[in-house]
Amino acid sequence: MRKFISVAAFAAVAMASVSTAAMAEGKKIGVSWSNFQEERWKTDEAAMKAAIEENGDEYISADAQASAAKQLTDVESLIAQGADALVILSVDSGAVGAAVDAAAAEGIPVLGYDRLVEDERAFYLTFDNKGVGRIIAESVKAVQPEGNYAIIKGDKGDPNALFLLEGMMEVIGPDVEAGKITVVGEAFTDGWKPDNAQKNMEQILTANDNKVDAVLAENDGMAGGVIAALQAQGMNVPVGGQDGDHAALNRVARGTQVVSVWKDARQLGKAAGNIAAMLADGKAMSDIPDAVKWSGGSKGVEMNAIFLAPTPITKDNISAVIDAGHIAKDKVCEGA
Ligand code: BGC
Repeated sequence: MRKFISVAAFAAVAMASVSTAAMAEGKKIGVSWSNFQEERWKTDEAAMKAAIEENGDEYISADAQASAAKQLTDVESLIAQGADALVILSVDSGAVGAAVDAAAAEGIPVLGYDRLVEDERAFYLTFDNKGVGRIIAESVKAVQPEGNYAIIKGDKGDPNALFLLEGMMEVIGPDVEAGKITVVGEAFTDGWKPDNAQKNMEQILTANDNKVDAVLAENDGMAGGVIAALQAQGMNVPVGGQDGDHAALNRVARGTQVVSVWKDARQLGKAAGNIAAMLADGKAMSDIPDAVKWSGGSKGVEMNAIFLAPTPITKDNISAVIDAGHIAKDKVCEGA
């Protein structure tokens, strides 16, 4: 296995190559989306579609509406429509294998987008998800170095939920062992739904007599649900999340959320459009510029992968998302 190089340094190199290396023209790139619940996915889609069209390729897509079964029929339909490469945002890691089989049967390359599709026949393009988990925990720990922590995890069928948790535990694990931090509640959240996260948080608060000092939420939508549960009890404790959702950035500005880890979905979408073009053109996965070998999934399958670097956004550097054109200043500052 090749050594995993520094993600930040690597991301810069990778972006330079994958954003200029498009070759295929007139190919069809089929994109299977999981659903559009989080606002980030529309940003991913716009960037991916633009990159695909700039390359002279055609964007065809389907929305699985959070159903693993629909995702399989979506992929079959994209194949029937003549897709030359497939980009899949997986609904459920336990079910997506059948979609890869269907693509492989037709010799169509697959790019697992953002979420791991653990199969050597798929390329893996994502952000450093463990790094995201580490940043959420580091940022919350900086303001609340001890006490009772709750962890609101994402959907069980999404490997990112575990990568994020691993990153978080790398940061707080030693404090848990030292007795400084106690994890008083930890729950997976069906479908990453904010309502379910709110219910999870209510249960943790009830079980602990409201003695919760900090919350690590695995995304911003769920952080919103967590904060609603806290506010219903008149509580304001440090909460962390990810995605750079506009509502979350506003909460960071207003001080009800400590951090939102921003993953620039425009970069990921663009890289996917370009990598898909190369794959459609017959380029081997191992020849994608700057691909690394990675085998960190639960099955240990060695894959070709690219990891982009995430950016922590706290009150101190909130201008970064404004300067990058991700959100307007008045939106961030509303009510702050
Ligand atoms: C993504 C997050 C997103 C979550 C829910 C995860 O796989 O990495 O950015 O918030 O799915 O859609």
